[in-house]
Amino acid sequence: MSKLTYLDIETTPNEGYFWRCGYKINIQPNNISRERAMICAAWAHDDGKIEVADDLILWDNGVIDDSLIVKKLAEAVEDSTILVHHNGDKFDIPWINARLRYHGYDTIGPKRSIDTYKVVKSKYNMNSFRLDYVAKYFGVGRKIKSDYQWWVDIMEDNENCDASFAKMVKYNKMDVEVLRDVFKKIEPDITYNWYNIIEDINDPCVGCGHEGPHQHRGVVPNQTTGYERYTCKSCGKWMRGPNKKEHRRRVL
Ligand SMILES: [Zn+2]
Repeated sequence: MSKLTYLDIETTPNEGYFWRCGYKINIQPNNISRERAMICAAWAHDDGKIEVADDLILWDNGVIDDSLIVKKLAEAVEDSTILVHHNGDKFDIPWINARLRYHGYDTIGPKRSIDTYKVVKSKYNMNSFRLDYVAKYFGVGRKIKSDYQWWVDIMEDNENCDASFAKMVKYNKMDVEVLRDVFKKIEPDITYNWYNIIEDINDPCVGCGHEGPHQHRGVVPNQTTGYERYTCKSCGKWMRGPNKKEHRRRVL
């Protein structure tokens, strides 16, 4: 069973009719002529190799069928404990779930998630919180850039479709690699209580596995209980002990 599963999806745009171009244009759902779908999905369990679901079917009648992709993806994450994604709480996960339900499958069950977008946004002051920017900022940027034409080729199922699809899949896989690199970079600052709690100062670091004892960093007292705080001597990760009554805020 994997502890962390990194995942990312690529999607098609909707296709539709609109009367003019410009800003502040109002496009309603009934302007859609062809519903968007998933193009491919990539994921990796812990430090394992990056896997991909690229079983996209383009039917002759123009229907984009992503049923095999979403099924494969759902099966891949079924036993995962924590899903790691960039803005996936808002985008990827509900997107995947909508497609799963649409095709008559069960959605991804309730799981812990670490949304690296939320982490960087809450912890750092940066010019942009997009994955490509964050990755570049931390020196783990990607090597290839996406091209709008890939989406056009796939949507049109033209003579370049296969080549563009292959590039999209490669890009998708690279995004997961980048996501994992970003996660490792920012891991010391991921402070979800359920993620960085250790029972004892001698327990291994939740980030890098380095053996304790860790650096003691004081007590965080609260109203009725409180906890001890530590940092890993190897990777610097912040950790906390369990809530204990003896650490409560003392009032005279
Ligand atoms: Zn560590």
